[in-house]
Amino acid sequence: MTRKDAVQRRRQRILIVDDTLANIEILHKILQADHDIFFAKSGADGVRIVKQEMPDLILLDIMMPDMDGYQVCALLKGDPQTAHIPVIFITAMGSDEDETRGLDCGAIDYITKPISPPIVKARVRNHLELKRSRDLLAELTVELGEKNRELEILAREDGLTGLANRRHFNEVLDAELKRALRTRQYLSLVLCDVDFFKKYNDQYGHVAGDKCLQAIGDVMRATFRRAGDLPARYGGEEFAAILPDTAPDQAVQLAERLRQELMARDLPHLVDGVQGQVTLSVGVVGVQATRERNAEWVIREADQALYRSKETGRNRVSAVAYD
Ligand SMILES: [Mg+2]
Repeated sequence: MTRKDAVQRRRQRILIVDDTLANIEILHKILQADHDIFFAKSGADGVRIVKQEMPDLILLDIMMPDMDGYQVCALLKGDPQTAHIPVIFITAMGSDEDETRGLDCGAIDYITKPISPPIVKARVRNHLELKRSRDLLAELTVELGEKNRELEILAREDGLTGLANRRHFNEVLDAELKRALRTRQYLSLVLCDVDFFKKYNDQYGHVAGDKCLQAIGDVMRATFRRAGDLPARYGGEEFAAILPDTAPDQAVQLAERLRQELMARDLPHLVDGVQGQVTLSVGVVGVQATRERNAEWVIREADQALYRSKETGRNRVSAVAYD
């Protein structure tokens, strides 16, 4: 059962506050078949029970010793926790002035004694239906918010590794380049590619291949974890990290740490022509942002550095810096 269904099916609860037991008994008799009933014999008790039970509707007598109905109503309406609970006054005082005063202090309705069972039933039913609609709307709003957050995460996250996906990477790179232009700070970009990954998949299968990528994702996350760093899955076996406010030499250090951390994991890759374990080739570009150095340009520079790492023997970091 969804929470929405729960709201729709829940038996609604009414609190009756009246200092005369006979009045409570009459109302109880009229309403008990369809609702759960609580009661209080004084205003102070009524306020306490409202906070404890959070009823869906309050039937409130006006003439009570100590705290009268107007005071109870004003107290409940002044408390954000209880302000939303509808209050109906039930009273023998039937003048226009009395009614106005009741409505002014926040009651939604006013029923005069002597009590007519069909009228009480009908009014209570109407107000409870409204209350249920509001509860339902509140529940739907919460659900919608949760769904939106899930979608937002899905739209930004790579399903396999939990890193940022390509789309989120692109958004952040654009934003960070603009920021770097404004703050005149360096921005560095790390691009890496798993060495001989096709051979790995051929040798160990795609399930193992996915596990290997997840392990690399973990190392990425552990390495690029400063505030503002964005490790991402760039493509199939390609990873990237955006490093805002990071000079080229610092970016190279981090990239080198990444490469060594992965080697320390010692993920076996026992295929002819491979070094025996899973390794990364890495390209780093560190730039002082200019208008011409846009995302496309920065990625191309990192890609060329990565290509040099591949060409000169793999499992290494190549870097280029632009002041
Ligand atoms: Mg009374």
